[in-house]
Amino acid sequence: MLVESPPVQPYLHDPELNPLLSAEARFDAAAQLLGLDDGMQKVLRSPSREVTVHIPVLLDDGRIEVFTGYRVQHSIARGPAKGGIRYAPDVSLDEVRALASWMTWKCAVTNIPFGGGKGGIICDPLILSPGELERMTRRYTSQIFEFIGPEVDVPAPDMNTNEQTMAWIMDTYSMRSGHTQTAVVTGKPIDLGGSRGRPEATGRGCMIVTEQALRRFGLDRSTASVVIQGFGNVGGMAANLMANAGFKIIALVEWDGAVHNDKGLDIKALAKHRKETGSILDFAGGENIDREEAFFMETDVLLPAAKENVITSHNASKIRAKILCEGANGPTTAAADSILRDKGIFVIPDILANAGGVTVSYFEWVQDRQGYFWNEQLVNERLQEIMIGSFNDVVAYAEKHKVDNRTAAYMLALDRVAFAIKLRGIYA
Ligand code: NAD
Repeated sequence: MLVESPPVQPYLHDPELNPLLSAEARFDAAAQLLGLDDGMQKVLRSPSREVTVHIPVLLDDGRIEVFTGYRVQHSIARGPAKGGIRYAPDVSLDEVRALASWMTWKCAVTNIPFGGGKGGIICDPLILSPGELERMTRRYTSQIFEFIGPEVDVPAPDMNTNEQTMAWIMDTYSMRSGHTQTAVVTGKPIDLGGSRGRPEATGRGCMIVTEQALRRFGLDRSTASVVIQGFGNVGGMAANLMANAGFKIIALVEWDGAVHNDKGLDIKALAKHRKETGSILDFAGGENIDREEAFFMETDVLLPAAKENVITSHNASKIRAKILCEGANGPTTAAADSILRDKGIFVIPDILANAGGVTVSYFEWVQDRQGYFWNEQLVNERLQEIMIGSFNDVVAYAEKHKVDNRTAAYMLALDRVAFAIKLRGIYA
């Protein structure tokens, strides 16, 4: 039996890229401004529970491999832990800890009654067969069975996991419980208790808050130019919804290049082109341009929706957007924050901008527990209400306390979680 080597720490070469350090820097700044006492800071800083499991899996060729998996519950002060599970070779405990704390702040900013959690397995999902992925997922679920549940910790899809992964987790959990428990995970297929509107929710949330921000500049969707990085779930949905709503998507950036059209890209045709050719490049309705040129072009809105750490202290000064809507988690490093602030860029921070996903996950959990399902219009209306309310809360807080939007979002979130902890008291 082969035990995996200890997790790689991919950020050792550049601490600026370590998501845990970025999360801690923002936490420290907000905690200090709030004047939180040392004891409360210690509670808020420490994950409530961290579970590490070693997962034996029978491979298709008869060998046994052992994968390392994590589930971190950062906070359960305001409700069950909530957050995705990712499968990737560079998953590390530091990364999972940072992502779990972001979930706590994201749920608090949107005032959803959840805490924060995150999970991951160190593996290369691209070389695992569907059968191997299913066996790994089911064994992982079984090994964290005691630590998850509708009232305890509710996982969801994240990088390289999807509706099918959630269906396997739900089934394994239900088999061990002795009855079907759909509310143990969100992001499930509709036929197993998933919510209408969930696939579009994060992109839709980005569009809603972007429109609110545009109003502050006296702009509206019919004239606004947008550059989007990432044409996946978040970026692709945002591009599609925004184009339909009248925004002008002037550039789309993918890992292999970018396409540009000053008059606005036809997103539906671009999606068809990518489906047929495997790339957004060489699209008849635009011109290929360099990725950097696209990312740093003059635009009303820049929407990074691909991955973390794309805006750093080395390149933040090159951004020429009025509004930065952070669709991805952690696209900006903490060291780049002050550069964006000095340039006067209106940042919609990730814990607010991409909270549409967890908001509709909350709706899914509510619907599962009620056993009563909403139509898509109701889901979208309620999403809009929460996103606009949260946007207004953050911007009002920033103006009142004379801080930038990210600091305001963190302060608001920390304050809400700290208040819940104070009300509950420290159980001894
Ligand atoms: P995804 O895998 O569906 O899409 C990511 C896209 O980015 C892909 O098309 C990929 O080719 C592209 N990409 C990868 N590297 C790139 C690069 N260097 N330059 C340009 N493009 C690149 O993932 P997703 O679900 O859309 O998630 C994107 C981000 O949004 C992640 O940070 C994720 O954590 C965050 N997020 C997702 C959700 C959700 O509901 N899916 C919710 C909140 C936050």
